[in-house]
Order: sequence, then structure tokens, then C-alpha cells
Amino acid sequence: MRGLMQEWSLTVDRIIDHAARWDGKREVVTRALSGEIVRTDYAAMRERARRLSAALAARGIGRGDRVATMGWNSFRHVEAWFAIMGMGAVCHTLNPRLFREQIVYIANHAEDHAIIVDPCFQDLLADMLPALPRLGAIIVMGEASEVARDRLPGAVDYESVIAENHPEAAWGGFDEETACALCYTSGTTGNPKGVLYTHRSNVIHTLMTLQPDVFGLSIADVVMPIVPMYHANGWGLPLSAPAVGCKLVLPGSRLDGASLHDLCEREDVTFAAAVPTVWQALLQHLDDTGGRLTTLRRVLVGGAACPESIIRRLRDHGVESKQGWGMTETSPIGSHSKLLPEIAALPFDDQVPWRLKQGRPPFGVDLKIVDDTGNRQPHDGAALGRLHVKGPTVASAYLGGTPGDILDREGFFDTGDIADIDAEGYMRIADRAKDVIKSGGEWISSIEIENIALGHPKVALCAVIAIPDPKWDERPLLVVQLRDGETATASEMLGTLEGRIAKWWMPEGVVFVPEMPLGATGKIDKKRLRERFPAAF
Ligand code: AMP
Repeated sequence: MRGLMQEWSLTVDRIIDHAARWDGKREVVTRALSGEIVRTDYAAMRERARRLSAALAARGIGRGDRVATMGWNSFRHVEAWFAIMGMGAVCHTLNPRLFREQIVYIANHAEDHAIIVDPCFQDLLADMLPALPRLGAIIVMGEASEVARDRLPGAVDYESVIAENHPEAAWGGFDEETACALCYTSGTTGNPKGVLYTHRSNVIHTLMTLQPDVFGLSIADVVMPIVPMYHANGWGLPLSAPAVGCKLVLPGSRLDGASLHDLCEREDVTFAAAVPTVWQALLQHLDDTGGRLTTLRRVLVGGAACPESIIRRLRDHGVESKQGWGMTETSPIGSHSKLLPEIAALPFDDQVPWRLKQGRPPFGVDLKIVDDTGNRQPHDGAALGRLHVKGPTVASAYLGGTPGDILDREGFFDTGDIADIDAEGYMRIADRAKDVIKSGGEWISSIEIENIALGHPKVALCAVIAIPDPKWDERPLLVVQLRDGETATASEMLGTLEGRIAKWWMPEGVVFVPEMPLGATGKIDKKRLRERFPAAF
């Protein structure tokens, strides 16, 4: 027997439709590339998004066609998302921080037909253009004067396109399993792989993020996604904020501590999300200037393990930080460090061990850990295994694959992370499988060592990597970037770890680097560190 409720396919266009109708006047604030603050609202953005859809349709873009975006977080970029997705095309967020060859590979593999690009990436695009034969329309997210016509002769400016087109484009009305967005991930092996989200998975992910124990956004919040929109759907925030109708603040290209602090204070930001290195930069700025965070209340720290020092230092500023774990393949929210009531009742110091874990799955995600032969491991907080994940917002294949071809017999996806799960259901990532240090046949958790070393007041950033060892196969090496103006010795660093980790986990040595290499999404790039320090220290 079928139920008797209304047909209402879960498509992303409904999110901005709802925001425009019910919260149309709510502000969306952008720091433009020039540094200027630009204000608009959801009603205006919806109308402009529909005009952009009409413009894309006029340029031959139809359902299923891939349209790339390459830009910082801005109102135009959010409009472009809704324009592309709303008309049934596929919004492919390109990461401009990748190497040129990787972007070319990805754009060709995705078969991108058009691109909507920030003015600051026009040179990059022009350099790649000869290698992108399929690319047709190029729309530059700015005014006519910002288009580099000498380098991109066929390019048009976004504002003229919006002005010249009508706002009556055909939106929605298709099956909710239709593809709506595409994001590549470097994955564990081989070439980057495309994760192809559906309208349904993105709408379900939006609803998942709104659970109070996940983002818990309310209409009274002022939300700032610092995480770029090209990193795993901007963690869903460009959809979550309009879904609740709250004010949205988009920081553009300026992600340094001073600019972020200024924007937080100026716009009364209450909730923000970013990778740990961004929080470290903001906290360093506050330390240097004596600045305070007067409106920020809750932040999400994700994309890499959240060090204890971030949790404590943000708390000193009256900010509650929560750690989230996820991946491009999981849309990305996979777990969140919500506190069980009995843990929340403990003094703060006693809560810290749980706050440091990657957390528990929200409704809509299931997790398991398995050994090398696929057997489930106990949830005892000790047994380590490969973390597998399942749910309606988890990929079942990469672009070009067949549904289910990356899933195990039980329909779970192998994340490539090594984790344990404790009796309370808290999952803890010990390492990314490819970053694992195996010494004498036993795993050493680089994340745990890094977390303690980061507690040293002189340490700005640190990473623990494996170096080959004739006796033990691998041994850990601690790589440290000190805070500006500080000096320290190796024994000082190792002294911090003494008594706090098992003796055989003690790094073989310490190297100091002036600047830690960061990857395309702002995480520490351990691959480059391993290449730089293949053995010697
Ligand atoms: P990406 O798809 O680029 O977002 O990378 C996903 C990977 O980042 C995961 O598989 C983890 O290895 C890592 N990651 C994400 N969040 C966390 C976290 N909170 N703690 C530790 N590692 C994380």
C-alpha cells in the first residue's frame, strides 16, 4: 500500500525558493575580492540565479551538462550554484589551489561545458584553456571592466549576463535522484575521482546538518562558511543557511586571521566552520593583537583532527568548538562530536577526551570498523580498524563507475581512515591509512602525538610522519613550525611528549621548518613532508 502524502521531490532549488519567499530580506554579505563589503538578500539572489539559468540555457546548457565554478565564497558563487543545480545541470566545483595539470585532468574528465570563474582566476584559466577543448561559455563573476578580454577573448561578465536575461528559467520538476553537483577528491590512490551528488542527497544532507547536535543553525544565527565552497560542498553551509533563512556571511579570498576577525566582529557572526589551520591563524592573530570574539558562539572544526589547544583557546574566547569528521564522499558530514548528557555534565577538563574524538554519527549515517578481512571490530575504544560508512549521503560509485562498485557486501564505503569506536559510540580517527605509521607491526597514531605537541606554547603547526627504519620498518618524525619569533630545541619538543605517550611512540627526531606545506584544502600536506624528509633529520 502506498502512502497518501504529496509528491514533493527533494530538489535543491526548493531551498532558495523557500528562503526567497519566507526570508527574502535576510542579508547575505560578501567580502569582495577588492575588500569592499557587498550586501544582498535571498530574494534578490534567487531572481539573479534564475536569470543566470536562462543565460546558461541560451548558451546550450541543458540537464546533466557539467558547468564548472572556480571561485571563492561569494554571493555570486552561491547564486551560480542554485542557477546550475536549479535547471538540472551539474555544478562542478573546481579547486583553484590544485596544480594546473590536476585541474585540467579534472575538468576534462568531468566534461565541463562552461565555467563561471572569479576574476582573480582568469589568468589560471587562460593558461589552461588550450588543454580544455570542450569548454564553451566562460562567465566571469564580476562587472564588464573586470573581464580580461585580452586573455579570455570569448568571456562575458556575470553582471551583463544577469541584466540581459529574464528570470523565468525552468527550474526543478525533475527526479530527485538527478545529479546536481560534482566534486573531485584526490582519494587514496591514482587520479582524482569525481563524487557525483544527487539533489536528494544534498537536500537530505542539508536536513542532517540542521540537527541540533550537528550545526544546529537557527534563524537567529549569522553563519560564515570559511571553508571554501570548492571543498566538499562547502560542508553544506551554502545550502543549510538559506534552508533556515539565517544571515550568511561569505569571506571571499581573505582567509587570514585579521580579515576573518574583522568580518566576524563587523557582521556579528555567531557560527563559522573551517579547517584547524585557519582557526590556528585566527587565534594567533587574537594573541598578537589582544583581539576578542564578541559575537562568535559556536564553530565547527573539521577536515583534519582538531588539536586540544584549539578547543581550549577558543573556549577562552567564549566559543564552543565542535569537531566534525567527513569526506568529499560523505557530502561531507559523517560524524560530529556531540556531547552525551552524562559527558556534558562533567567538568570541562573531563570532557576534553571526548571532545578530541571525531564523534558520533548523526541520524542518516552508519559507521563500522573492520579488520583487513572485513570482520567488524568491537566498540571498545581499543580495537582499531578501517572505518566504513553507509547512508543516503554517501557515494556509491565515482563518476564513470557503476552504482555500488565502491561498496562492500553490506553496502558500506571504505573511507581509508583507521579508527576506533568506544563503548559510548564515539569514533576516533587514529590516522589516514596512507599516513599511518607502522612500527614493529603496530600502529602509532600521528594525530595523537601531534595533538600533544601542539599544546606546546611555541608550536604553531606540527605533523608527525613516518620515516623508514631498518629494524622497525617505520619510525615517527616530528615536524614543527614554530610561532613567529620563537626558537626551540628538539629535546624541548620531545620533553612535552614524555610521559604522555607510550615510550615506543616517541619520535626518532624533530625537524623545524619555517613554513608547513599546506594542501589544496588548507590541511597539512604530509605527502610533501614525506618527500622532503625521506629519512634524514
Ligand atoms: P576530504 O575529502 O578532502 O575532505 O578529506 C577527507 C579526509 O580528511 C578524511 O578521510 C580524513 O582522513 C580527514 N578528516 C576529515 N575530518 C577529520 C577530522 N575531524 N579528524 C581527522 N581527520 C579528518
